[in-house]
Order: sequence, then C-alpha cells, then structure tokens
Amino acid sequence: MKLRTYLLLANCISIAFIIVFLLVSFQYMLVTKKQLVWLVTATIGAGIVSAGLYFLLVRPLEASVRRIRDGAARIASGDLKARVAHRTKLTEFKELAVQFNAMGASLDHSFGQVKAAERAQRELVANIAHDLRTPLASLQSYAEALEDGIVQDEEAFSRYVSTIRSETIRLGELIQDVFDLSTLDAGKPKDDPDAKCAPAIFEDLLVELLPRFTPQLNAKSLRLRVLAPERSLAIRMSAVHLVRVLQNLIENAVRYSPEGGIIVVEAKELPERRVRISVTDEGAGIPPEDRERIFERFYRVEKSRNREGGGSGLGLSIAKLLVEQYGGEIGVEPATGQGSRFWFNVREA
Ligand code: ADP
Repeated sequence: MKLRTYLLLANCISIAFIIVFLLVSFQYMLVTKKQLVWLVTATIGAGIVSAGLYFLLVRPLEASVRRIRDGAARIASGDLKARVAHRTKLTEFKELAVQFNAMGASLDHSFGQVKAAERAQRELVANIAHDLRTPLASLQSYAEALEDGIVQDEEAFSRYVSTIRSETIRLGELIQDVFDLSTLDAGKPKDDPDAKCAPAIFEDLLVELLPRFTPQLNAKSLRLRVLAPERSLAIRMSAVHLVRVLQNLIENAVRYSPEGGIIVVEAKELPERRVRISVTDEGAGIPPEDRERIFERFYRVEKSRNREGGGSGLGLSIAKLLVEQYGGEIGVEPATGQGSRFWFNVREA
C-alpha cells in the first residue's frame, strides 16, 4: 500500500468516527429536524473538506520519501555520486536527507580508496613480475651459455659466474624487499610503534653497519664521514628497523655518488628530544618534481626500467613506511653544492 493511501485511509477512518459520533450526538440534542439536517450536512461537508486538505498536505511528505527512495535506488545501482535534495520544510526529512548524503559521500570515498588500493596492488604485481623476469632472463641465458660450452676462456667463464651470482643476489634482495613491504603493510604487531622495544643506540648501529659498505666504497673510491653529537643517542625505534632505513639511504648514496665523492652521515639534535639523521651525497641530485614521488613504490627518477646499476626501487618506500611507523618524517632536499640530502626525524628514547 502506498504511503499516501495509507495516511488518507487513516484520516478517513478518524473522520468517519467523528461524523458517526456527531450524528449520534445530534439525535439527543434539542434541535429541529431542519437544524439536524443542516448540522449533519455541515459535518459531512467538513469531513470531506478535511480529507481533501489532508490529501494535499500529505504530498510534500510523500515527495520527500520518494526522493530518498530514488537516491537509495541510484546508490544500489552503483551510482555512488547520487545525492538527495534537502529542500523541505519537514525537519526530520531534512535531517534524513543530510544523513543520507553523508552516508553516500562516505561510501563513495571508501569505494574510491578500495579501487585505488586495487589499482596499486595490480601495478605492484606487474612491477614485481617485471623485475623478477629481468634477472631471471639473464640468469637463464648465462646458465645456458655455460651449459652449451660456448664460454671457453677462464676469464669469460668467471665473468659469467660472477654475473649469475650478482643477479641471484639482486633477485634475493627484491624478494626480501617485497616481503618486507608486505609485512609492513600488514602492520604486524611487532611493528607497533607503541609496543615496547629496546631503543637503538645510534653509534652502535653505525659500528655494525658501516663496515658492510667497505667494498662498495673502495670500488668507487668514496669517502664516508660521520657527524654526531658527543653524547650517546638512544633512538626510539627498533635497531633492526633503524639499520634498515640507514642501510637503504647509504646504499643509494653509494649507488648514485660519482667516483671519489664524499658521503656524510649525520645525526643532529632537534628541539623536543627529536633527532634528524641525514645521509648526504655528491651525486646528480633529485629533480624537484621527483622529490615526493621517489618515496612511492618502484618510482625511479630515470624513467627507463633498465635495472643496470639500480636497486629494487622499493628501498625508499620501505624506509618511509618504517620511519612513519614510529611517528617520524622522511624527506629529501638538495645538498649544498651538488647532490642530495636524505633525512628522517625520529624521537629520542
Ligand atoms: P632504488 O633501489 O632504485 O634505488 P629507491 O626506492 O631506493 O630505489 O630509490 C628510488 C629512486 O630514487 C631511485 O631509482 C633513484 O632514481 C632515486 N634516488 C634515490 N636515492 C638517490 C640519491 N642518493 N641520488 C639520486 N637519486 C636517488
């Protein structure tokens, strides 16, 4: 039954009840027959006029319900931009329309986020597939060359073997990066910044980390300087995570530095017990338009996806996720002269 029919029926029943009551009452009144006829006619006429007025007055109510119904139908058919006009004098319907529109906006926003996440996921899988295929293809061709006995001299043989080794390492690094990203995305409880973790002692970490870079530094005749406050710095971050961030930044500094350059690793105290750790190199620097984007997954300044000399393209996004998990910020700025300074702010323990 339609809303208007129902309301009209309810109204007619109540009017009929009043008319019957009045008609019965008139019988007992001291009125002439003529007066009685007039009173009955007037009562029935008033009842009809009242029903007519009721019919007209119920229309805005019906229109409001219809608007909400149409809006809901459009949303149900997938049009999440559907909104309901709230030009009505009926307060409850106005509030209902406002709430309905807020619900539509929030649905639209959530759906947009789901779609963006799906798109990012698809791109991520495509990028990973591409980056796995490249080293695998060269591994296959080098292995086949060795198997077919094409390589005769010892020097070429060891070059092939060393390429196979370096490609295997690169594959392993990529798989490790993808694994790290997925665990960071899942926000495992161990990564909860509020979870109690032993603070990382900055200088102890450097003593552990820097010797790992000796071969690469020597290969490019790079010098590495460390600037840090006299006192010991205890950072509110798990040592494993701080090492991971620093390692990614230093690896990049080494990779993008010219031969004979200087790399500076610096820890500076900031107000409110915060520390800024930075890694500065003398490389080509990062163009301003790429400075935000290099923290995205697989974003590389050099647009070609040639992996020659490059890493997995995930290092900075992992560093960003880690730093932000501990309430810190990360960024890059041009270094004085030439090169770039990657920095991140963290809290002291
Ligand atoms: P990759 O493993 O390719 O280095 P990253 O996520 O660590 O991936 O870095 C993303 C991109 O940012 C790099 O491909 C490079 O283009 C740019 N980049 C990172 N560090 C530096 C740096 N120190 N100097 C110049 N470019 C850099």
